[in-house]
Amino acid sequence: MTNSLDEARYDAVVLGAGISGLVATSILLRDGARNVLVVDEYAWSGGNHIDCKFGDYTFDVGSYIFQDDSPLLAHFPELLPLYIQIYPSWGRLTPQGGVSHYPLSIKDDLLSAGPLEWLWMVSSIIFARTFRRRIRSAKDFATFWIGRRLLERTGLGYYLSRFYGFPADQVDVKFAEKRMLWIKEHATLRNLVGRAFRRAPNVAPNQQLVRPREGFGVLYRKAMERLEGQGAGFVLGTKIARVQRQNGEFSIVLANDRAIVGRRLVSTIPLARIQDLCGLQTHRELKTVTLLTLFYSFSGERGFKQPILYNFSSEGAWKRLTIHSDFYGRCHGREFFSVEVNAEHVAHDISTADSDFRTHTCDNRLFLGDLRLEGAHMLDNAYPIYTDQADEHAASTVAALRKLGIESIGRQGRFDYQPTARDSTLKAEAALRSDQPGQTWSRSDASAP
Ligand SMILES: Cc1cc2nc3c(=O)[nH]c(=O)nc-3n(C[C@H](O)[C@H](O)[C@H](O)COP(=O)(O)OP(=O)(O)OC[C@H]3O[C@@H](n4cnc5c(N)ncnc54)[C@H](O)[C@@H]3O)c2cc1C
Repeated sequence: MTNSLDEARYDAVVLGAGISGLVATSILLRDGARNVLVVDEYAWSGGNHIDCKFGDYTFDVGSYIFQDDSPLLAHFPELLPLYIQIYPSWGRLTPQGGVSHYPLSIKDDLLSAGPLEWLWMVSSIIFARTFRRRIRSAKDFATFWIGRRLLERTGLGYYLSRFYGFPADQVDVKFAEKRMLWIKEHATLRNLVGRAFRRAPNVAPNQQLVRPREGFGVLYRKAMERLEGQGAGFVLGTKIARVQRQNGEFSIVLANDRAIVGRRLVSTIPLARIQDLCGLQTHRELKTVTLLTLFYSFSGERGFKQPILYNFSSEGAWKRLTIHSDFYGRCHGREFFSVEVNAEHVAHDISTADSDFRTHTCDNRLFLGDLRLEGAHMLDNAYPIYTDQADEHAASTVAALRKLGIESIGRQGRFDYQPTARDSTLKAEAALRSDQPGQTWSRSDASAP
């Protein structure tokens, strides 16, 4: 942990040391800020890229895969050699109890279905496209594109509810359009035919990467070192008590009563949190998913070969699992993996989640052998849930903060489901470019300590 409060006045203060906070700091320094202070209540940088150690096992809180062409690497090129290259494949536990390709398999979902099923599927697609005029929810969206029968047969309908953390018929369609475009891409006849006959591209695809064996700490410490070398300071593991605007500057009071002053304030923390710190009233609670991750070690027959498996079956609370030992090697001869569960679906209870996972995988003849729960982790604010025009409400909150001069960005700061570090990087770059056009600092007007 770095605590470098060597100046009380900063050109800019950044709240949150996740990807958005690190990228924002890099941009601010590049654009001429002489000193930037980053404050986070976590004791580490990297935000919700979190790993947990239990004994000799290092698990991830969720499933994280990165790419070598990520724009994040333009800010932090020293990260690239630290990642481990992997060759992942993605599987899907189907409602029929088999393991197939993710997200859809032409062979298993279509070809092997047989004439009666084909008729049923085609008529349900024709029905949906003819009569479903008003597409309001994520479920309407998916039904429109692949029809009700295929939605059930593939298990996509069941998965959508696990993915969103809410029944898919209550999730705003705008979110589905933004995040589930692949359904549309898979579902048009032209694309289906094209996919069946297309040759593999000549150019090599980008490399798929995971964090170093030791964990995320090694990665993001390097990013911090680069930023520190350029004039950034970090205060980690410290809560913020309040934020005030005074004489065109921002005073950030930390829980230890120490105050720091920033001429510019970029926030990447949850919208409700920054409103609260500024003493602003929150008119509506924005719902988010709390992610419960279970960590297991295993010895025996796991029943599938893909390192990442999604639960598309009708039962079981778990959403996805990632076999870390496929990337890092076994530990004490045992495989080890993380299982993601929406905490709401198991009453925020670890033993309920564990027994649900055991029962469900056993029923599907997965993980036959010695399965040990090594630990668990609860992550608040893992994903935004888009119901009742939550995105519009978030946008007006961001605009209200902007009027106060606070630039709220990032997955939590915009209440925007940014699925990848790539997306967060691009959005941070775009936001800082458009939020303060022409904002630069000259050496002479940078405040002294
Ligand atoms: C489970 C999961 C799986 C993911 N998988 C991938 C993947 O495979 N590949 C990929 O590229 N990306 C993945 N992502 C997405 C990617 O991580 C996000 O795009 C990115 O982390 C968003 O970064 P952020 O900085 O906007 O938000 P966060 O990472 O959430 O950072 C926000 C920071 O704000 C801090 N904070 C919150 N409240 C306060 C407060 N009151 N005071 C001070 N600090 C505060 C938090 O401690 C945190 O450090 C995944 C994310 C999750 C949650």
